[in-house]
Amino acid sequence: MNEESLGRIFLAHLLYLDDAGSVPNANEGYYVLGGVSVYEAQADWFSRQLDDLAQTINPADPASVEFHASEIFSRRTIPWKGMTRDDARGVIMAVLKIIADSYASARVFACAVEKASVSTGTDVVELAFEDLCSRFSLYLDRLRAQGDRQRGLVILDRTTRETSLQRLAREFRSLGTRWGNTLRNLADIPFFVDSRASRLIQFADHVAYAVFRRYNAGDTQYFDIIAPRFDAADGRIHGLSHKLAQGVPCLCPACLSRQISGPLSD
Ligand SMILES: [Zn+2]
Repeated sequence: MNEESLGRIFLAHLLYLDDAGSVPNANEGYYVLGGVSVYEAQADWFSRQLDDLAQTINPADPASVEFHASEIFSRRTIPWKGMTRDDARGVIMAVLKIIADSYASARVFACAVEKASVSTGTDVVELAFEDLCSRFSLYLDRLRAQGDRQRGLVILDRTTRETSLQRLAREFRSLGTRWGNTLRNLADIPFFVDSRASRLIQFADHVAYAVFRRYNAGDTQYFDIIAPRFDAADGRIHGLSHKLAQGVPCLCPACLSRQISGPLSD
């Protein structure tokens, strides 16, 4: 099912999600789940922007160009192989810039989990997924208060490495009960799409990667491009959360926003 047919059926706000970082990899301190929410009628515009960018990379076969940020960054595979470091990074930035310059209704969401801060027995992926669904639902609550009653649909990469994300999607209904009211505005089950075919999942991949680089490597150059697009209201950033050990001072935009506006339930 492509984005167009999803839109025709649901007329909804679509939250495309992907992850960055591997839970078992001890060399990485963070796991990030992140993505972008677009109104379904605008999904096609986003796809076309990436098609246009792909055209500049492989004019003979733009459809073959899949934007996967970690592959672009490492420059080990075609068509990124042979690119200069700056050119490759410029591609990642160009993808993020499309989001930054897009429709006002497009919102970025991400949850960055410091793996060491998670208590034994807690599933890191579930923690991030619940957090994201809850933030997306809060966003839909706000839209609802303004008269927009569209529901939300979560769309995930079919080939996600984290199999627990696939399990969570299968158990979505029972999770709704376990998580309280978190899924109230969301359609029954998340959809899976193939990242090779879905340009929107490729945007989500870049958001997750930008946030991962920010927290895992202290590299803010990608994050800064999309930072103004995190869901926010009343001077508080709702679309980004940073899970770290309690009491550790942090000056990242998510933690700082909560310190300034005072502790709230979310
Ligand atoms: Zn922080």
